Amino acid sequence: MGVIDELLSNNRAFAASVPRQHLDVRPRRRLAIVTCMDSRLNVFAALGLGEGEAHVLRNAGGVITDDVIRSLAVSQRRLGTREVMLIHHTDCGMQTLTDDGFRAELQQATGVAPAFAIESFTDLDADVRQSIRRVRRSAFLLHRDLIRGFVYDVDTHRLREIQVDPEQREPASGSLGAGLGGASDGARPTRDD
Ligand SMILES: [Zn+2]
Repeated sequence: MGVIDELLSNNRAFAASVPRQHLDVRPRRRLAIVTCMDSRLNVFAALGLGEGEAHVLRNAGGVITDDVIRSLAVSQRRLGTREVMLIHHTDCGMQTLTDDGFRAELQQATGVAPAFAIESFTDLDADVRQSIRRVRRSAFLLHRDLIRGFVYDVDTHRLREIQVDPEQREPASGSLGAGLGGASDGARPTRDD
């Protein structure tokens, strides 16, 4: 039995064990969380969240990409969320590669340079700060100041908050800047913000 068959079996047992319910599509805590796809971070358990309480947006690294901004725009403008919680974590897979190396690997394997930025990082704290700045700069969002960033320790399960100067006002813009999603001409995306 493949792993997905196993999960289907788990789902039948789960659905039979909990009562039928319908929750509001709008998250009750008016919160969106952006974090990594890492398999060790159980967001709901680690934060004491339940179903219907928060949006959880995940990708490799918990990076603020154009697609994350798209989701946050829908989350805030249609589904009523206000606060944004960013969570990076220790021992992240994105620390095991470099932008140049992974880009070259993809290009060698396929003959095509990816249009997307790789978004690897070495300094967790610096990347959390950059992510906060990207959210603050996006004019597509309604609530750009109610944002806090953290690093989750995958061994101790503790969160550590990353401080960013609250007085540092960011100019709003409609785009994340060069390199995120717009490099269809093969130009190499950069991440100089
Ligand atoms: Zn990660």
